[in-house]
Amino acid sequence: MNNNGIADGPQFLPLDPTFGTKAIHSGYVPKDWNFAPVVPPLVLSTTFEQDGPAQHRGFEYTRSGNPTRQILEETLAKLDGGKYGMVFASGLAATTNVVAMLNSGDHIVSMDDVYGGTGRLFRQMHKTANIQPDFVDMTDLAAFEKALSPKTKLVWIETPTNPTLKIVDIAKVSEIAHKFNKDIIVAVDNTFLTSFYQKPLTFGADMVVYSLTKYMNGHSDVLMGAIVLNREDLKDRIAFLQNSLGAVPSPFDCYLLLRSLRTLHVRMPLHMKNAYTIAKFLSKHPKVEKVLHPGLPSHPQHELSLKQTSGHSGLIAFYIKDGSGAKFLQNLKVFSLAESLGGYESLAELPYSMTHASVPADLRKQLGITEGFIRISVGLESEADLISDLSDALDNC
Ligand SMILES: *Cc1c(COP(=O)(O)O)cnc(C)c1O
Repeated sequence: MNNNGIADGPQFLPLDPTFGTKAIHSGYVPKDWNFAPVVPPLVLSTTFEQDGPAQHRGFEYTRSGNPTRQILEETLAKLDGGKYGMVFASGLAATTNVVAMLNSGDHIVSMDDVYGGTGRLFRQMHKTANIQPDFVDMTDLAAFEKALSPKTKLVWIETPTNPTLKIVDIAKVSEIAHKFNKDIIVAVDNTFLTSFYQKPLTFGADMVVYSLTKYMNGHSDVLMGAIVLNREDLKDRIAFLQNSLGAVPSPFDCYLLLRSLRTLHVRMPLHMKNAYTIAKFLSKHPKVEKVLHPGLPSHPQHELSLKQTSGHSGLIAFYIKDGSGAKFLQNLKVFSLAESLGGYESLAELPYSMTHASVPADLRKQLGITEGFIRISVGLESEADLISDLSDALDNC
């Protein structure tokens, strides 16, 4: 039995034994509120009555701070083992706030295989703000080290990567970056695994960045992002930018996100179990050329994933052999053909023309994002139904 309760599953790092209690109780004490509501209140008010000019009770104006948002931010910090959490209107709004800390002339070293929108934002910043990004394959540590320059201010890791699920060694990359210059900010996009399966701050990263839109919310009905970190100096700069740029989420969305986080530790193991079973099924299918899942011994960074993570989520990618990717996707009945990932419902997509269409054609080719390359986000439906859906769609593609 592995750490996630899968009979013949790979042995990852132990799970955080107090995760469930933190997910359910952080940031909130019912008796601190009038009437002691057990469920945290949704405070929609944009403004707060003051006792005297500039004498307020902790909140003045909802862009600068809101009670519902604060409970969510504290919970996010706790789940990552961090001191501070801040939320934003989307994952890309969180990334925009990170990039906004940089100055004209600064340099970013980014993993080459990153979320399409992240690459697009970095390239856009090059045009409008003279911030130069370099995209390198950080699974090659020598290539990464070579890319660092005295102008490098930000190192951007995404692991596992989107969509080819490469694993980057957070501890080694952080060590190399900080040895080169201790002021370099090492940020990790932890969207694919969540704080339940990976804790980048414990491996030396300076900040964790999320699209909460995916697994953390898990119900495909809220768009939101977050940054979690320990360093007070960075927290002050980002809190200033969070208020100045103003890309904050609504209190209602914060309420929904908090409600979703309460069950993150219940959802993730089922995503993992369904996806691992499907990965093994696909590996044996004659119409599948190759399956990418970090828990499979065939994955190039399998050993690293066992040392760095406590499991894997519901994401799998694979190459179809002798068949049409587009036809396969249209054949699916339980899986929906749609972008995004991390919800309770299963989704499948073609990164080539959908999520990664904005990646330059030569880079797409180099990364292996072809027209036969499929990414699936395995949801929480019954395992047998998911497998028979994939099986029927493959047989007829
Ligand atoms: C979706 C996603 C983002 C962007 O988040 P939004 O909430 O859509 O703005 C960033 N990184 C990864 C890995 C993602 O999957």
